[in-house]
Amino acid sequence: MADYTLSLVSSIFLIVASLYGITCLEFIVINNAKTTPGGIRFEKEIGLKYAKEAMETTSKFIWNMLNQNDPKDRRVMDNVTMYISEYKGAEAFTQANKINVSSVYLEGYQGNLTWEFTSLVYHEMTHVWQSFGAFEPIMLIEGIADYTILKANYYPPLYAKPGMGDKWDQGYDFTARFLEYCEGLKPGFVPTLNKMMNITYKEEYFVDLLGKPVNQLWKEYKAKFGGKPSTKNSNTIRERRYSDRYLGY
Ligand SMILES: [Zn+2]
Repeated sequence: MADYTLSLVSSIFLIVASLYGITCLEFIVINNAKTTPGGIRFEKEIGLKYAKEAMETTSKFIWNMLNQNDPKDRRVMDNVTMYISEYKGAEAFTQANKINVSSVYLEGYQGNLTWEFTSLVYHEMTHVWQSFGAFEPIMLIEGIADYTILKANYYPPLYAKPGMGDKWDQGYDFTARFLEYCEGLKPGFVPTLNKMMNITYKEEYFVDLLGKPVNQLWKEYKAKFGGKPSTKNSNTIRERRYSDRYLGY
């Protein structure tokens, strides 16, 4: 009888949920590299439970940052799944709701792996939730993902300093610092730009939002932080190579 009542209640909930477009979102972590050194290190220093919690925590942070607290404002998906897999190359890459993390990268990382992994999840999880209707410009998409780790205070020591970089769409931390500057000019710039990129991307968006072309904004940004080196001296010894690529939805 109790079971019947329970199933009736859950059926009613599911009907109501579907009527209102509510979907239950699940975070899943699968270690497909359990027997490899990196997969073993993952279990020891991170673990499935922490990885799942990190996916949830970072998602909530990103929803807040991108003004997506209302589920209606974000992509509909019933799960986001992370795979720990043995492959060489990018430390991680994200495809739609699937995040792949390289066990080879985890094996070789020197330092606090839990911290590094969390930072990586902030970046990759941004790719899950951000807008990218046109799949470009890829370096702006990567810049927004690195803007997240800046705002979350999970950026590595060799992350670009304000004013660094040769062009606004250099990508990753260089672009993230420029976005930080734009956000300073107009609070809400980043979430609004992200929303506008839902269908397509146009350079005019910068004019629409900040009243100036992006190249002029970049010049003013560089002038503001004049005297700073445009590139890092030690670019090649960054803790993370930042070689992930968003592969499309
Ligand atoms: Zn990325």
